[in-house]
Amino acid sequence: MDILISGAGIAGPSLAFWLRRFGFAVTVVERAPAPRDGGQAVDFRGTAHMTVLRRMGLLDEIRRQQTTPADMVFVDEHGRRRAVLPAEFTAGEVEILRGRLSRILYEATRDDVEYLFGDTITSLAEDESGVDVTFQHAPPRRFGLVIGADGMHSAVRGQVFSGRLDFLGYHVAGFASDGHEYCNVPGRLIGDGLIIFKSAELTYDRRDLLAQKEIVADACAGVGWRVPEIVRTMCESDDFFFGPVSRLRMDRITRGRVALIGDAAYGTTFGGMGTGLAIVSAYVLAGSLATHRSHTEAFAEYESLVRPYAKGCQGNPGPFLAPATKPGLWLRNRLFGVMARLPLEGMFARMDIKAANNITLPDYARPPQVR
Ligand SMILES: Cc1cc2nc3c(=O)[nH]c(=O)nc-3n(C[C@H](O)[C@H](O)[C@H](O)COP(=O)(O)OP(=O)(O)OC[C@H]3O[C@@H](n4cnc5c(N)ncnc54)[C@H](O)[C@@H]3O)c2cc1C
Repeated sequence: MDILISGAGIAGPSLAFWLRRFGFAVTVVERAPAPRDGGQAVDFRGTAHMTVLRRMGLLDEIRRQQTTPADMVFVDEHGRRRAVLPAEFTAGEVEILRGRLSRILYEATRDDVEYLFGDTITSLAEDESGVDVTFQHAPPRRFGLVIGADGMHSAVRGQVFSGRLDFLGYHVAGFASDGHEYCNVPGRLIGDGLIIFKSAELTYDRRDLLAQKEIVADACAGVGWRVPEIVRTMCESDDFFFGPVSRLRMDRITRGRVALIGDAAYGTTFGGMGTGLAIVSAYVLAGSLATHRSHTEAFAEYESLVRPYAKGCQGNPGPFLAPATKPGLWLRNRLFGVMARLPLEGMFARMDIKAANNITLPDYARPPQVR
């Protein structure tokens, strides 16, 4: 069966990897002209993430290119150290720059997957035996299945599904920067490579990065410490991301011959373990398709395994990283202080691992049938 994937971020190439291994013919269409190398560090944690990476045979390469984990140091406006979040919590078991991971996945699939860069789907028309697809540039084609792996603002989702993005009260900006110090004032966290602030939902042009940088700079106005220097670094950064912290609510992530995966299916803009979730879901979706007679049965298995798992991974780190009030900030810092003094090795790490491990992975590594 020919399968079309929209999006060559993390979920798209991970799914292409497994589908090829199970014998499907795969085409990936990506709007950008080449794999997008942007993004800060993403991490993997817990048995499910590590098992899938090991089964892909990519764990050693990811470890070879991993970042050096560092503690997150929280200071006040005068630069006084107020709390420390240990690296074991912030960096998981292995942490890597998102761009490097995206490149590893692309390299692992480029030889036997057809990539169409600089293009996008313009229409989908499904009947009983397939989906007719038109593209902005490539000629029309027919596929057995279409999978939307085209991120938080998925066009495939927009065409086939209804869903709701709930705004969670914060906006976040990420940018290239060294260092791991973060200044907290109520409702704001401003630091190396990361700025989070509480506000009403803002409207802005998603393509106008300059205007977005101005919004973030305004949100940082009046804060002392190294903040003016951090804002300058952000303004000069080519690797910049800005968006509302929001969570996607979907009743279902498959319909007919179309399915969603990754941020397109259950994204949280930030802090939702999106990368680990994407690779685990890719393994489950491809494995389900390889081990069931029909895509309908496979999609049912995919929904039943992945939807509850994903729900548990959709966190909102805003109130935790940038508590809204002075007492809230004081309480969070006290909590970190107490926890750091207790002899409970690994306690920080275990806080997130429960959600990351909350799936029983079927062993699809050698599926019974190859198509
Ligand atoms: C440039 C970039 C930087 C990121 N930086 C971070 C970060 O620093 N920290 C973090 O936690 N997460 C980051 N993310 C999000 C993170 O990659 C995801 O949360 C997670 O890895 C799941 O990946 P995904 O493949 O579902 O989504 P994404 O990684 O967002 O990939 C979606 C892909 O779909 C493509 N696409 C979008 N619309 C279309 C369309 N209409 N047609 C064809 N292709 C389309 C996009 O160009 C992109 O390549 C970033 C994403 C991107 C694209």
